[in-house]
Amino acid sequence: MKDNFNRNIDYLRVSVTDRCNLRCIYCMPQEGIKFVPHDEILRYEEILKIIRIATTIGISKIRITGGEPLVRKDIVSFIERLSKIQDIKDMAMTTNGTLLKKYAKDLYEAGLKRVNVSLDSLDENKFKTITRSGSLKDVLEGIEQAYKAGLYPIKINVVVMKGINDDEIEKFARWSMEVPYQIRFIEFMPIGQNNWEKELFISGEEVKQKIENTVGSLIPVEIKKSGPAEYFILEGAKGLLGFISPLSAHICTRCNRLRLTAEGKLRPCLFSDREIDLKRILRSGASEDEIRQILIKAIQLKPQSLSDNRPLRAMSTIGG
Ligand code: SAM
Repeated sequence: MKDNFNRNIDYLRVSVTDRCNLRCIYCMPQEGIKFVPHDEILRYEEILKIIRIATTIGISKIRITGGEPLVRKDIVSFIERLSKIQDIKDMAMTTNGTLLKKYAKDLYEAGLKRVNVSLDSLDENKFKTITRSGSLKDVLEGIEQAYKAGLYPIKINVVVMKGINDDEIEKFARWSMEVPYQIRFIEFMPIGQNNWEKELFISGEEVKQKIENTVGSLIPVEIKKSGPAEYFILEGAKGLLGFISPLSAHICTRCNRLRLTAEGKLRPCLFSDREIDLKRILRSGASEDEIRQILIKAIQLKPQSLSDNRPLRAMSTIGG
């Protein structure tokens, strides 16, 4: 379905939990997080019902996210039920990868097509500093398992922060020579009460320049369904390098998505705190058609471009 700015909205990102087993410095505070009570989180049946209705207005791509989706109980059987919904053409997951070693094969067999893994450092100590607890080894093993299981393509998301991990841009770029993954550099965004400061920001263009100065020329690559990312390849590389620049580039013109938070709020735009309480409507016994109308309304409420306001909620509670 088209929104008011002629964008085709066919993509729903669904957060299945606000819980996470990491505390990345750019995403969540270390302590004092108020999690949504369990009975306020959408049940799997409710999510499946919303997705089924969403497919009737043209949603055909689903991404499961969180929080950390793999910490939610029975996630594999949920994926299996999701994969049976007709008209879903693409079903992906965004994960921090810590539990992928355990789940990759089961997820693939349940019908998941692909994963995006967040990985902001290739150095064990720095990885611990950024995630405040995680193990790099677990994530790297998880990525390998995902690749072996057949989840394809594997996308690696790197949030680049000046003075924190920008010294690893070259290392990540060289990694693309060896691994068949799409390694994407993402601009650090001011979302919620995270530690965003102008001094930490480094634009996609600056990252590209660093790679061209230290590793080699970036050759543009056209990929179908590339979403907000721009892709390049280094000569002879097995993998690709991508750039997602929500702050410095005008990616809103290509925005095709709605978000559903873990507690059932429909969010037309990541950068706007405007939300529709779909769970309240769903739990009040609304008909399928009433729910469909709410989804249509959310599409119509999508703003043309992001506002200058800093969204109040952390990415982990919206579903990145
Ligand atoms: N736990 C999963 C994970 O780590 O991928 C899914 C949720 S996480 C909130 C989704 C994505 O949002 C991750 O790739 C993460 O790096 C990104 N993210 C979170 N906060 C961000 C920020 N302030 N700027 C840019 N990306 C951010």
